[in-house]
Order: sequence, then structure tokens, then C-alpha cells
Amino acid sequence: MPQTGLMMNRPLLISGILEHGAAQHGDQEIVSRETHGPLHRYTYADAAHRARQLANALAQRGLQAGSAVGSIAWNNHRHLEAYFAVSGSGMVMHTCNPRLHPQQLIYVINHAEDEVVLFDASFAPLVKGIAAHCPKVRAWVCLADATNTPTIDGVSVLNYEDLIAQQSPAFVWPDLDEATGAALCYTSGTTGNPKGVLYSHRAIVLDATTACMPDVLGLSKQETILPVVPMFHVNAWCIPYAALLAGAKLVLPGPKLDGPNLFELMDTEQVTISAGVPTIWIGLIQHVEQNNLRFAHMKRTCVGGSAMPMALIAKFMDNYGVEVRHGWGMTETTAVATMSSLSRADRQKPAAEQHAIVAKQGKAVSGIEIKVVDENGLTLPRDGSSQGELMVRGQWIVERYFKAEETALVNGWFPTGDIATIDAHGTMQIRDRTKDVIKTGGEWISSIDLENAAMGHPAVAMAAVIGVKHPKWDERPLLFIVCKPGESVEKQAILDFLATQVAKWWVPDDVVFLASLPVGGTGKVQKNDLRKDYGGVFS
Ligand code: ADP
Repeated sequence: MPQTGLMMNRPLLISGILEHGAAQHGDQEIVSRETHGPLHRYTYADAAHRARQLANALAQRGLQAGSAVGSIAWNNHRHLEAYFAVSGSGMVMHTCNPRLHPQQLIYVINHAEDEVVLFDASFAPLVKGIAAHCPKVRAWVCLADATNTPTIDGVSVLNYEDLIAQQSPAFVWPDLDEATGAALCYTSGTTGNPKGVLYSHRAIVLDATTACMPDVLGLSKQETILPVVPMFHVNAWCIPYAALLAGAKLVLPGPKLDGPNLFELMDTEQVTISAGVPTIWIGLIQHVEQNNLRFAHMKRTCVGGSAMPMALIAKFMDNYGVEVRHGWGMTETTAVATMSSLSRADRQKPAAEQHAIVAKQGKAVSGIEIKVVDENGLTLPRDGSSQGELMVRGQWIVERYFKAEETALVNGWFPTGDIATIDAHGTMQIRDRTKDVIKTGGEWISSIDLENAAMGHPAVAMAAVIGVKHPKWDERPLLFIVCKPGESVEKQAILDFLATQVAKWWVPDDVVFLASLPVGGTGKVQKNDLRKDYGGVFS
């Protein structure tokens, strides 16, 4: 009979992360770019002080354990304080994606039953449009001081600074069960209404701890991390928690996520690690190339959310000496689930091989297991070529959606809707999303692989591929290209180039040149919008 271990059973709590950060790394810096005014600078100890004040303010307004607090906000210091105050109090921090359609935003705020919504001044017009439709929201709080808080017709707006001003900086965080819901994030809802994922304290603490590991984000008190990934996109991949655990300097970029502003912040704040989706790195590298700049401090960039094109990996690593780490995760996985980073042996390989390794989505981090299955649910071999649906399970994977009656699992595993291969070493590669893969003549074409190939053309800044109905082949690929500023290329030249990169039958039937691609709030290309506008029928 197994014996019970005789150790303390202290719960894993988000308040514990905050108090660890304040007590052990209290003078570490948090730098935040705000919607108004100059850069804001303070320390972990200051943030904890104000988070406790916010916890008192929320309690005074009658919010209780289990209450939900929404946010429509950029990455900034007040949003960070709310992350800890709300969850630490046993309430649910519901981060909203401001780019959701207003109807969906209303849906998620009502579904989550938010009682207070924190918002950035720049989202005042959005609040004006939705407030009347959110009857449970008792207070709309602008993340600003009185001067920078706008008045909104028909909405009574509080300002954050007045809300916390008179509050005590002492607060006794409740000793919660670690399974308590701490944060809520909704999937983007490309089909049907968005679905909520309610993260527990345990899931977040474990994922944030893993994120610090050397081969994941590699955080420590010697590093400065800038999460470009928004705090409404899967908990900013748990970086706001991980930074405090590790004692790393934290730089929050606020609303300005374009190349020039990001580069300036990285340079002046001596950022060593950053994280975000590929579209962000495309904007950044264009700025760096056009202005002949160098990264003085950046050691690595951690990319995920969609596939990082190989050409971009090569640029960062070879031209700028910035290591690329490529991870995979989804709203349902709290943050990172797999990560691709180079081993010592990998670093001895030729550059092109290193890029190819990083272009895959990597190995499951500890705490996570992955497998691929065929349409009958049978596990496929780990041979790097058998592709099927990626299944995941682990300590920070969703079990069921918020308010759902039924489990989301199939035999204990979460079906991701991604198609992947896993090789004998455990390295996973996403081939496509089930809904994006192009089915042609009974075979599959990976839209990711085609986009990757197109991005290898020197004139191409961004590429996207969708499947378009075809009378004979079922579907055929249609390629969208955005050229780099000042560059152009003929349609035939792109097709000829692709013919040298992929199988003949993969070469798209047509190319559409656009000035930009539709990109959502999390920085991903919205293929549904492309399908709506261009998904007719090839003849
Ligand atoms: P959304 O549906 O808004 O994209 P998520 O952020 O949850 O919501 O997206 C998760 C999906 O993003 C994954 O299922 C996968 O298809 C895709 N994804 C995430 N990381 C990668 C990656 N590194 N490479 C390719 N696809 C990725």
C-alpha cells in the first residue's frame, strides 16, 4: 500500500507569486509604456503594494471570492496589478480581447458575469458601445488617473487611481484551494460563440514555473523580458507571473507594438528576451533592416501563436545573432505546451539545419504529454511523417469549457484541432489546423508549409494560403502576398519560385496581392476574413 508523503501541503497560489516577487526581488524594475504620459517605472515591491490596495478596493465594493473582473487593456502596470489583486483575492481575472466583434465582447462579458470591467482609455469608444448591454457590470474603471480618464456618455466611469488611493496597502490574501479558478480567457470563436477556459491557480503557477526553465523562456534575475504578446492572449503566455517568480526585469509595451516603438523600448531598456507572434517580428525586422540597426542586448525571441516562417528564423539567428525559440500552445493549454530550442549538438549543425529544427514546434515541456492520432483515435507512430490530430494532456490543460456540462476530453486527452507529426525524439511539428488544411484530389496540402515557402521569396513580407472550392479537385490553394515596402514581384515569378520549393501539385492556382493581411487582436492572420472575401470557386 503506498504511503502518504509527510510534507506540508501548501497550495500553489498566484498571491504567492506576488509576495515572492515583492519579498525576494522587491527592488527589481517594472517599466511600462502607458496610453498617456512618459514611461512608468517602479518596482515589484511597489506593484505588490498597489495590488493589495486594489484588492481592498474590490472587496470594499462588495466583490467576493468567485466574482469576475473583466479587463479590456494593453500590457501595462495597472493591468499587471489587477492580474494579482483579482486572482489573489479568489476572484476571476477575465481578460478580454478588444478586437472581438462588439457582439462577442458583450457575449463574453455577460457569460463570464463580470461585475467590474477595467479598461484602457483608448478603448473608451468600445465601452460606450457595449456598456448598456452588460447589465451585471457594476463599475467601469479606466486604468488611468483622473486627468486621463475620459467621460463616456451614458456610462459612469471610475478611475483606477482614485479607486485605490485611500486603500490600505495591507491585505491578507485568502488561503485558497489551489484548484480555485483564477483567470478566464475565451477562445477567439471563429465558429460560434467564444468558449471560456477557466485557469486554476495551480495550472498558472505550474505553467509559469515551467516557463522560467532554461530551455523554455530561460528567465532569471539577470534577464529583462518584454512580453509583446498581449495580456489578453492566453495570459501573455504566463510571462507576467513567470517574471515575478524569476525576478526578471519586466518591460510592458502598452499600446505601441509597431517595429520602431518596440525597437526603441528594447534598446533603451536593454531587453534580453521577448515573446510574441510572428507578425510582430515581421514588423520589427523590417524596421531594423530598413534603418541598418543592430540589437545590442537581445539574446532570444520566443515565438508562438502561429508558425514562425523559416526565412524569419534565419534572419534573426544569422543576421542579428538573436536566438529564436518556437513554442506551441493554445487558449486551452494555459500557455506554453511545447517548445523548440537548440541542444548543444544542434548548435554544431549547419545553419540551415538549425533553422529547420527551430521551425518545428518542439518538444513537450515537463508536465505535458502529446500524441497524434488517426481519425479512429488510434495513436500514430512517432516517425516524423505519420500525421494526425494532436492530442495533449497535462497539469495545465483544460478539462471542460467554462459553464460546459460535458468534458472537452476524449479518453482523457484534449483534442487540439491541429494536425501534427511527432518524430522519434519527441519533436512535434504542426502541419496545419484542421480547418485550414487544403484538401485537394484526396490529398492534403499544408497551408503553413506553403506560406513558409512563399515567405522565402526576398520580395515577400507576409503570405497566407486558403483552400478555395474547385469543381474537379475539391479544393485548391489560393495564395495572398504582401510585398515588402518598395518591392514588387510578378505573379508568375512567385509561382515559378514556389515550383522550386514544393511539389508541383502544391503550387497555388492563383496569387492575390494585398497591401496588408487581416490580422486579429492576437496578431494572427484572420483566414476566415480571407475566405469570406475570396473563398469563391475556382473554375
Ligand atoms: P485562436 O483560435 O485565436 O488562434 P489560440 O491562441 O488558442 O486561439 O490559438 C491556438 C492555435 O494557434 C493552435 O491550436 C494552433 O493552431 C496555433 N498555433 C499556436 N502556436 C503555433 C505555432 N508555433 N505554430 C503553428 N501554429 C500554432
